[in-house]
Amino acid sequence: MCKQGNTVKVEVHHVGEIRLVDVDVDKCIARIIKALNEGGVATEGCCCGHGKVTGHITLTDGRILGIYPNRKVFLKHCPVDLD
Ligand SMILES: [Zn+2]
Repeated sequence: MCKQGNTVKVEVHHVGEIRLVDVDVDKCIARIIKALNEGGVATEGCCCGHGKVTGHITLTDGRILGIYPNRKVFLKHCPVDLD
């Protein structure tokens, strides 16, 4: 996770008026945000959590994707059988 303020510009889609906008995105998740938007999954906001809280990516359809630093932390929050 990167420090707060360590951002890069990423072009994202906003559904509705469908526009492209360059926004500041946390550097460590910038490639994920870019890939989602280039793949047609519009994002509304995001934060990597900066190692303090669970990171998230908010999609324009209202769903929220969690970002966990690793499998162990994910399973602590979401005990599921991944195997
Ligand atoms: Zn980060």
